[in-house]
Amino acid sequence: MLVVKDPVCGMVFVKEDAAGQTLYNGETYYFCAPSCKKTFVSEPEKYLATFNNKDRSKESNEINFGENERNEKDNGLREHD
Ligand SMILES: [Zn+2]
Repeated sequence: MLVVKDPVCGMVFVKEDAAGQTLYNGETYYFCAPSCKKTFVSEPEKYLATFNNKDRSKESNEINFGENERNEKDNGLREHD
């Protein structure tokens, strides 16, 4: 059972429950409602920027940096391979 996240509204749900999906840049994104899919397709970059940011701050939280804003700065300086 795979849990996915709607990049538009941030809702987390089981992939089988998705109301829609779309392929963008080689990645499949799932949506809780057709309206979320429509919103995403009209401005994918806008929602992916937020989506990827969230993923990165989750990563940083594991290292216990704390605040998201500071993490973004740290990510720029941190060595990343
Ligand atoms: Zn949604």
